Amino acid sequence: MRVFFRDIHDWEWLPRRFDPIRALALPRSINALLGPRPRVIDDGLWAKLLWAGLNLEATDIPRGKAGLIYPLELVRAITLTWLFAGQRSNEIARLRLGCIRWQHDGTAVAGDSTQVLARDAVCLLDVPAHKTGTAFTKPVDPLLGQAINAWEAVRPDQPKRTDKRTGEQVDFLFSLRARAISSGYINSTIIPMLCRKAGVLASDVRGSITSHRARSTIANQLYNAKEPMTLFELQAWLGHRSPESTQHYAKISPNTLTKAYKDAGYFARNVRTIEVLVDREAVASGAAAAGEPWQHYDLGHGFCTYSFFDQCPHRMACARCDFYMPKDSSKGQLLEAKDNLQRMLATIPLTDEEQAAVDDGQAALDQLLERLADVPTPSGATPRQLLPIIEVRQGHAPKA
Ligand code: SF4
Repeated sequence: MRVFFRDIHDWEWLPRRFDPIRALALPRSINALLGPRPRVIDDGLWAKLLWAGLNLEATDIPRGKAGLIYPLELVRAITLTWLFAGQRSNEIARLRLGCIRWQHDGTAVAGDSTQVLARDAVCLLDVPAHKTGTAFTKPVDPLLGQAINAWEAVRPDQPKRTDKRTGEQVDFLFSLRARAISSGYINSTIIPMLCRKAGVLASDVRGSITSHRARSTIANQLYNAKEPMTLFELQAWLGHRSPESTQHYAKISPNTLTKAYKDAGYFARNVRTIEVLVDREAVASGAAAAGEPWQHYDLGHGFCTYSFFDQCPHRMACARCDFYMPKDSSKGQLLEAKDNLQRMLATIPLTDEEQAAVDDGQAALDQLLERLADVPTPSGATPRQLLPIIEVRQGHAPKA
């Protein structure tokens, strides 16, 4: 409509009374809804469709008045191509005879040596030129290669036909009675047949199950696998010209995102857990209310008895102020010997500098100590003032 009115204005058929670009702009609320949304099939439903495809029997295939319209080998090969190749229906219908190649240790293997193939060989599928690129080759599951080989073994000779995209005369793989299978065959026959066999509806919350949804689903599963494909590998596998197109398919699933978030350890990175010994006797007897220390933060070498330990600027490099109690002191040993101690864990948020001191070792710790040298501890003295006292306590002569 914008272009229509703009042209009418340009041609002066109507006087320009409004700006069509502004007046007919897309509302922001609708614009916000625009974006790629691959209609991935739910894992459970996809597993059922896979099972149905792998266990396909002649009785599952729709029949005409004269019996089977297409032989089981042909229907099975198309079905597995749809379930495993992740290609568009048009590309599946245009696959050519001999599109499957087998390799073992990088060397081509004859297509009939299926005993070796099942276990170790790599199956390659040649995909013809398509809407976004030229012909390419991709690895696929050996099951698909075997199904196509089985069809090729019984496929009667067919006349060549013209590939509408390239104009070449080619032998279409899925061709019978001198006609190639239509690209709509997957939507009209294969998918309803699989849904019937799997006992599922032919639609889900995201709409009808269509041939293209297999492509989104497979791409999504490969991208969210335990050992996922990278975006560029997936781009090559799907045959996309640009990574932007691949991004439309490769959406990170909430499960993968959750795992990645947990592995990144955001919470653990910014906090440290420290053990606190709570002296229940001091609390019960009222000594705590009278000012006796009752919470003891375990620093490894000693305890900090300052109740607001998490607010002490020296908590990650303790300056051993008056609130400090060495573990090897008689007080420290008496505390640890008490039976009514309650052990709890406290989480302490860390600043970047403290984080570096904890993670990066001595140099970062020295930097932190240097910066805090003249910052008063909760007891009033600075670490620089406390250092001679500590050295005397430890039996060293104070430095001049
Ligand atoms: S400097 Fe004092 S208050 Fe701070 S952690 Fe050490 S003992 Fe506790």
